[in-house]
Amino acid sequence: MSIWITKTKKINNQTVTFHRFNTVVVGAGAAGMNCAVHLYEFMEQKGVDNPQDKIAVVTAGLGLGASRMSGSDKQTYYKIGTSPDVPDSAEDFAKSLTAGGCCHGDLALAEGIGSLREFYHLVQVGVPFPHDSMGTYIGYKTDNDPNERATSAGPKTSKFMSECLQKELERYGVKIQDQQEVAHLLAVGTGKSKRLVGVVTIDKKNISKSNYAINVFLGSNIVLAAGGPGELYKTTVYPRGQLGIHGLAFKTGLIGANLTESQFGLASTKFRWNVSGTYMQAIPRIFSTDADGKDEKEFLADIFGSMSKMATNIFLKGYQWPFDPQRIENLQSSLIDILVFNETQKGRRVFMDFLHNPPGSDTIEEFDINALEPEAKEYLQKAGALQKTPIERLAHMNTPAIEIYKENGIDLYLESLEIAVCAQHNNGGFAVNNWWQSNIVQTFIIGEMAGTHGVKRPGGSALNAGQVGGLRAAEYIVNVYGYKMADYSDKQSEIDRQLSDFIAGFERYKSSTGFDPEQVLEEIRSRMTLSSGHIRELNDAQKALTEAVQLYKDIGQKGFNTKIPEDIITAIQAEHLALTSVAYLKAVVELLRRGSGSHGSHLVLSEDGVEIHPDVIDKATEKPLKFKSENKSLRSSILQIEYDEGAPDLFRSSSAGLRPAPSDRKAFEPAWQDYREGKIY
Ligand SMILES: Cc1cc2nc3c(=O)[nH]c(=O)nc-3n(C[C@H](O)[C@H](O)[C@H](O)COP(=O)(O)OP(=O)(O)OC[C@H]3O[C@@H](n4cnc5c(N)ncnc54)[C@H](O)[C@@H]3O)c2cc1C
Repeated sequence: MSIWITKTKKINNQTVTFHRFNTVVVGAGAAGMNCAVHLYEFMEQKGVDNPQDKIAVVTAGLGLGASRMSGSDKQTYYKIGTSPDVPDSAEDFAKSLTAGGCCHGDLALAEGIGSLREFYHLVQVGVPFPHDSMGTYIGYKTDNDPNERATSAGPKTSKFMSECLQKELERYGVKIQDQQEVAHLLAVGTGKSKRLVGVVTIDKKNISKSNYAINVFLGSNIVLAAGGPGELYKTTVYPRGQLGIHGLAFKTGLIGANLTESQFGLASTKFRWNVSGTYMQAIPRIFSTDADGKDEKEFLADIFGSMSKMATNIFLKGYQWPFDPQRIENLQSSLIDILVFNETQKGRRVFMDFLHNPPGSDTIEEFDINALEPEAKEYLQKAGALQKTPIERLAHMNTPAIEIYKENGIDLYLESLEIAVCAQHNNGGFAVNNWWQSNIVQTFIIGEMAGTHGVKRPGGSALNAGQVGGLRAAEYIVNVYGYKMADYSDKQSEIDRQLSDFIAGFERYKSSTGFDPEQVLEEIRSRMTLSSGHIRELNDAQKALTEAVQLYKDIGQKGFNTKIPEDIITAIQAEHLALTSVAYLKAVVELLRRGSGSHGSHLVLSEDGVEIHPDVIDKATEKPLKFKSENKSLRSSILQIEYDEGAPDLFRSSSAGLRPAPSDRKAFEPAWQDYREGKIY
């Protein structure tokens, strides 16, 4: 039998190009790049010839995705403590990851154990994490972090990570398949013998009216690292164009976990960027205006009632960044998110003004750094950030935080920054085991697509999890599944049939009575922000789910009306994002039905709940907003969602118990034997 690497075939009047690899990695963010680097290295260590030809990295765009395009004042990487005098351990690290519940102990421990190995790997490939003259990587405190485990290479940490890892891959000679929009996942077999055998893409550079430029990347192993479903929300700080491939993944049978646990927080909207850390620690003035930018109002002042309380809470938002319903009562920092949202609900706009301190009024005293509560005052004193204005304090603590806005057309010395409560990250995703293998054998899911985080993750742990997941997946693939190129000659007829159906489906994208793909995307985003955002209510979510299911079914019936070939890609995205939104809403409804209360990064409304403040009104009822406290009994399980075409809501839900962190510790010799004999896998 001849060994082919690339071949073309005519299917349904289209030329389809097949490429064969051992492992296909989808996504060129920090997670996907790292996995590809480790795959190469593990193969090379095993003496495999030309590992670079066995690995493909497939991406819709090298410059796209959260790693390349997102960040904050100092984008955080959360790792095990590296202080020379403060001890830390993987078990303690894992405890921080599991503290909010709904998080598997084995994954958290693996993220702890692999943390330093991956951190130093990044140092080695050139990510400029700062250290002192003795070589200590200095830490600081981040959200939900009891220690000082966080570090940062500046506002663009994850961009540097992806770029440095890319350089390493290029040195190794691994080719990146750029501009390939994943449009279908090829799965064969059923039940336990189901396999994902390849990824079908449209080459965005070459699509035309008559040529859909279809590529098929076949792999013995598939690693999905396509990031979060950022464009699911209207109010979002995910970068533009980051949709992910969740809908396609659900359709092939991959199981979603903790989908309800999206994180929300304050971010700038003109240029999408998180305003965490020093942006808040500089204590800017926060004010609202009407829709035209007029009628300025100091809306926080009346509610907080004292300058010291208000300014301290603005400061605390720095490292209490995600919206947290457990930080609302008794004038805590997440009350700011609620008040910002309350203003935007009234059609007003909210801004951060770095040129002025929060102003005093008839009811509250003038700003005075010395009157801040001790946590804020001591931090600023230690940082030497006692300058007169917020912009001076910010410039003193973190000039790159000002420069990043300048690079993107916003001069914080001249203009105020418009902000909103935005979707930022999904702690949930797809279920994986402790080697990041999904419920489909030989399919691995890493990075933000993997639902490993539970309800509350310390800030920065997403980047750590993405690195450790990639390392673990690569190690398992090479040591357990080997390095043979994919050979699906016995399944070719099934593959051809699927491709023929896939190509025939393009007719649905040219229906004169079909939907406008952009309008569908807009409808999905608006619904998700309204009903699956940081404020949720069962009847509303149920209504949204019914509408989302109907939209998906209508798309199946009517198709899309596209005018130019490139619109076909938008139509494909809209179709799978429509299914993604059904899955997320199904999860929201199911969790609310199980009696969940406010936890993680969302608030659950309840008429007999806790009142936030008489002035904070529920828009639907026009009564004061009341929320339900957390139902802690739900911490010990994970809500899972699985596609089921026949189910009324297209998905069925189940509850998975938490896997504990293994606590058995073997002596060196038996552990060595297990390792030599490959029993560790
Ligand atoms: C504003 C902001 C600030 C953040 N700050 C922090 C922080 O401080 N610390 C932290 O730990 N985390 C932070 N995060 C989260 C973190 O940045 C992401 O979770 C992480 O970068 C995701 O990496 P990834 O490799 O999984 O996916 P991404 O970096 O999102 O990469 C996804 C890849 O998949 C590709 N792709 C997507 N869809 C398709 C498709 N259909 N076909 C082909 N390719 C596709 C994209 O082109 C891209 O290459 C932040 C996120 C945001 C939005």
